[in-house]
Amino acid sequence: MDTQLIEQYQECLQNIRNSCIKRNRSFEDVKLIAVSKTKPVEDILTLYNAGCRDFGENKVQELVDKYQQLPKDIHWHMIGHLQRNKVKYIIDKVCLIHSVDSLELAEEINKQAAKHNLVMNILIEVNVANEESKFGLHPNQVEDFIYQVANFQFIKVVGLMTVAPYVDISEENRQYFVRLCQLLVDINSKNIDNITIDSLSMGMTNDYEIAIEEGATMVRIGSGIFGDRIYHQIS
Ligand SMILES: *Cc1c(COP(=O)(O)O)cnc(C)c1O
Repeated sequence: MDTQLIEQYQECLQNIRNSCIKRNRSFEDVKLIAVSKTKPVEDILTLYNAGCRDFGENKVQELVDKYQQLPKDIHWHMIGHLQRNKVKYIIDKVCLIHSVDSLELAEEINKQAAKHNLVMNILIEVNVANEESKFGLHPNQVEDFIYQVANFQFIKVVGLMTVAPYVDISEENRQYFVRLCQLLVDINSKNIDNITIDSLSMGMTNDYEIAIEEGATMVRIGSGIFGDRIYHQIS
């Protein structure tokens, strides 16, 4: 079981390397985030011992529980929808919040970060495919949003994130990765308050190779490393 986990992790790294080579990109410029949601701390430790330091979780309680049990040099990424009233539990535990999609949430992050005297790195979640079921700002709203959070002293916008549609043919998602990358280029060209964003969190198990070809700097891989997730029904 452990060896299988490590093998799948190594295989993902190799795939990332290959995609980088294909586009003449540097392997160091793409970070693999192992999405460990629903998976036990033992699995995380196995990967930790194989060298992995970046893990992604989508639930506050689960992230906090795991944080407390695991080595403190792990970089935790909050990748799921975040409620304002829960920001205080994770503000001093995560290195990056990927899912900022409202000014109210940004305000709360700023407030909690101020209390800890830290600057929180955030990504703006963008609903590039304009799916009704998805969180995230419409691409047209992103520029205004950056103007507004530029005033927040305890937040640093470092890039954009998207969750691409669930599709059978991953190639169909290439257009969305291209669009998110273009949005980043557009925003940087406007030179908003000297803000330069350079992170693109895009690509999951089914489409990370395509996302890397189109400029992803972070890929969030869950089932491709840990296997399928089993969600226990709470009755
Ligand atoms: C679960 C999740 C992932 C990982 O999904 P896989 O398809 O298992 O790789 C990535 N990003 C977000 C936001 C997620 O919630």
